[in-house]
Amino acid sequence: MGIIIRPWLKTDLEDLRRITWQSWIATYSSFIPEIDLKAYFDIYYDRGAFSAVFTDPSAHGYVAEIDDCMAGYARILFNREENRLYLTALYLLPDFQGRGIGKRLIRAVEEHAAERHIEEIRVGVMVQNSRALGFYEKGGFQFIREEPFTMGKTTVSHFIGYKKMGRRAKISTSQRNIFAVFDGARNQRGLQDLCLDLLSGQKHGWDDLRKGYELLKTVKEREVPCGGFTVRLQFNPGRITSSTAVVSDEAVRNRPCFLCVENLPEKQAGVLYRDEFLILCNPMPIFPFHFTISHIDHRAQMIDPNIRVFLRLMADLGPDWVILYNGAKCGASAPDHLHLQACPSGRMPVGLEIEEEKRWVSMKKADGVTLCRALNLGREVLILEGSDPARVENVFRKFTASLRKTVGTAEEPLLNIAGFCRGGKWRLLIFPRGKHRPDAFFREGDDRVVISPGVIDMGGALIIPVERDFERLDAAAVETIYREVSLDEETVEKAIDAMTG
Ligand SMILES: [Zn+2]
Repeated sequence: MGIIIRPWLKTDLEDLRRITWQSWIATYSSFIPEIDLKAYFDIYYDRGAFSAVFTDPSAHGYVAEIDDCMAGYARILFNREENRLYLTALYLLPDFQGRGIGKRLIRAVEEHAAERHIEEIRVGVMVQNSRALGFYEKGGFQFIREEPFTMGKTTVSHFIGYKKMGRRAKISTSQRNIFAVFDGARNQRGLQDLCLDLLSGQKHGWDDLRKGYELLKTVKEREVPCGGFTVRLQFNPGRITSSTAVVSDEAVRNRPCFLCVENLPEKQAGVLYRDEFLILCNPMPIFPFHFTISHIDHRAQMIDPNIRVFLRLMADLGPDWVILYNGAKCGASAPDHLHLQACPSGRMPVGLEIEEEKRWVSMKKADGVTLCRALNLGREVLILEGSDPARVENVFRKFTASLRKTVGTAEEPLLNIAGFCRGGKWRLLIFPRGKHRPDAFFREGDDRVVISPGVIDMGGALIIPVERDFERLDAAAVETIYREVSLDEETVEKAIDAMTG
């Protein structure tokens, strides 16, 4: 029995329609009434409609023949913008199932993708179709979410799955740096568990990390009540390198990037997150659990194009965690390499303070998303919250666009962000910044205060690497530092007022 796979031809039309119908009846009729299948078939597989695919440059198909008889086919649609291939149909006649024909068709589709440098193949499979789900999972597809799909008057649920083509080849799971892989697949261990396993594994296998966590046990902390809010100072000498890092463009260009996979310490490993980020243990932690989430490619630190994955991380990591972002020019230690951080929730004083709703002043309410200013915190803090991440993303982008215009910069406006997802709500705390380091940082001798505020400091946990500073900083000094590095109230209000929509 020889299987021949070839591109489809216009003359295959009647065979393709026949195979579609027969395979639907065999597979779907137990959960979708035939009348609804027929209604859908008459619209989308009608001769005229179907024959249009032969002239559509983004549509392709492959047919499988056995002894001159067509046994099945695969239909694909290329989305140029996403650089994705959608496998919109893979049907076999019932008599030909279980003979490896489906596998051969999938292979043809994967070769099609590889030849054209297409990064990903997507597929939708009805949840009742467990045989097909198993088939795709065995072939390396991961199912990540459910979407409704309607045929006639019946709506069923679809699992949406994907398989990566290019990236995985670059960062192979056999590489020493990969501790585990998370891609949101069904029946997979949660991201939090994978990260906690990573941390305990790395504490055993990587000396520098163990030392970093031992040093954390010796840090000193004290609270400083200020006007309307409180900060907690942490004397953490291990952070001196980070606090005094030279982040000028030139210095950054001339050093090997410490977040690029090829430059990671030999013993450092991470959790590969959705083929895009590597979740790593921070060897100089500020909290008892502290992760750096670094992109697998060397690309610039920017939040706008990455806010979607930021929001997704908030949900994937779960309600007990906060995801952090430092703008390239206000706290990021590697401004040239995209990275986020994660720490347990409840560690930054501002987290509790913004729970007092009397502080909230509503600025915008639209589309189920609210944008508020939080008052009496000594620095500008915005709360952006909603139960639909797509809408939160949308309002966030409108805000950053407006802020950019208001402060008159072509670059990303200075921002720190902390986000968490709890009780079905996505909440972002945004700290709009005026500048990175306060004047005191640049003074000489006794007058110098080594403080280099990033998102954690803006959240009320001030990291102080020099003991003398730790002992002498008082409320007035803290208030001055916040006032200096925060954007002013007037500009923030102007930016919010000027938001479109
Ligand atoms: Zn890099």
